[in-house]
Amino acid sequence: MNLSEEQIQLRDWVHEFANGVMRPAASEWDEREETPWPIIEEAARIGLYSFDFIANSYADKSGLTMAIVNEEMSWGDAGLALAIFGTTLGVAGIFANGTPEQIGEWIPQCFGTVEKPALAAFAVTEPDAGSDVSSLRTNAKYDPSNDTWTLNGTKTWITNGGIADVHVVVASVDSALGSRGQASFIVPKGTEGLSMGQKFKKLGIRASHTAEVVLDNVRIPGSMLLGGKEKLDERLARAREGRRSSTQAAMATFEASRPIVGAQAVGIARAAYEYSLEYAKERRQFQRAIIENQAIAFRLAEMAMKIEASRLLVWRAANMAATGQKFTMGEGSMSKAFAGETAVWVTEQAIQILGGYGYVREYPVERWYRDAKIYTIFEGTSEIQRLIIARAISGLQIK
Ligand SMILES: Cc1cc2nc3c(=O)[nH]c(=O)nc-3n(C[C@H](O)[C@H](O)[C@H](O)COP(=O)(O)OP(=O)(O)OC[C@H]3O[C@@H](n4cnc5c(N)ncnc54)[C@H](O)[C@@H]3O)c2cc1C
Repeated sequence: MNLSEEQIQLRDWVHEFANGVMRPAASEWDEREETPWPIIEEAARIGLYSFDFIANSYADKSGLTMAIVNEEMSWGDAGLALAIFGTTLGVAGIFANGTPEQIGEWIPQCFGTVEKPALAAFAVTEPDAGSDVSSLRTNAKYDPSNDTWTLNGTKTWITNGGIADVHVVVASVDSALGSRGQASFIVPKGTEGLSMGQKFKKLGIRASHTAEVVLDNVRIPGSMLLGGKEKLDERLARAREGRRSSTQAAMATFEASRPIVGAQAVGIARAAYEYSLEYAKERRQFQRAIIENQAIAFRLAEMAMKIEASRLLVWRAANMAATGQKFTMGEGSMSKAFAGETAVWVTEQAIQILGGYGYVREYPVERWYRDAKIYTIFEGTSEIQRLIIARAISGLQIK
């Protein structure tokens, strides 16, 4: 678990950006609740937001690079980090399902250019299909006469929804088959019938854009179906015959991406811990630093323990995914759920340590508290992670 010289250098480089560019801008973009284009452009300019950077980070055989990068970015600011790296959700969707040609064509377009960065979105969730993704209503109908798909439906809570240059939309092609009857499509910006619904005002990560995506008779060529028609037809035939599906492969992909989300939560928790540790050493009440009281010092000790444990779970799961080890206990889910809940708990403790100063916007701690909460909700709620772990350890279809 020792980082290589290269990883340490990379971590320090990302930290410099997080400390020098993200931290000073965090409060402003939290208040503005707008996409922070100048920060995204700066990340693109230095090569942090680019296809090459993400591809190289993912290529790391230890699996730790993406975790380290994400922790540092979220330490800088979770909202800005998601505004910059939210694109990777769409990228992962293309990478997991696309043909080599589709990957080569569309992933670079998700990032755009240094002069004009672009964004991508991954649209799965719907108003009536959140945790239960098997019940998607957005449908895709194929017309063989002109090799065209027509998509109809509404997606909700979509990061970069409506402002992305590339939307990866998951739709049902055969609703009777549930999640086995779904496919992913590329819908580029400007496609007729694609529009943004309402933009949501959120508790935290407010620099990250979250909105509805409306698909009203969106017509796209057959080449936009990720993986291609032949593969889809084979998959549907297997599902109709009740044969084993690739659902397990899809689940494995999700498990592999969860530690990265966990790493983001670790970044927020560490920010709040470091800040409150320093504060507790400085702040004096009753003629002594407040850290000299066990009630405060033990709280900080507990915060440190939970953050270290979270990072270890995250690194282990990231390493297992990169080295092709099978998750047998829902290790990916464990890392995400534990780190997410740790971030919520640690940031609350940090507010307590700062007292009234923790509660006001002049100090960053209340923002970290608001930002942390999303980590028990998106990318699978804490309950859904427990469901996955419980099923993995018991071998039973726990409901
Ligand atoms: C800021 C933000 C950004 C997001 N970005 C994206 C995105 O880019 N793309 C995308 O597709 N989605 C995105 N989402 C959606 C997110 O993944 C969903 O909100 C999440 O999966 C939960 O779905 P839901 O909100 O419909 O809650 P529900 O599924 O309705 O859950 C409500 C509650 O019931 C619990 N629950 C549900 N089923 C069970 C069960 N079987 N057992 C026990 N408890 C259960 C849940 O854990 C939760 O506590 C985003 C959400 C937010 C808030």
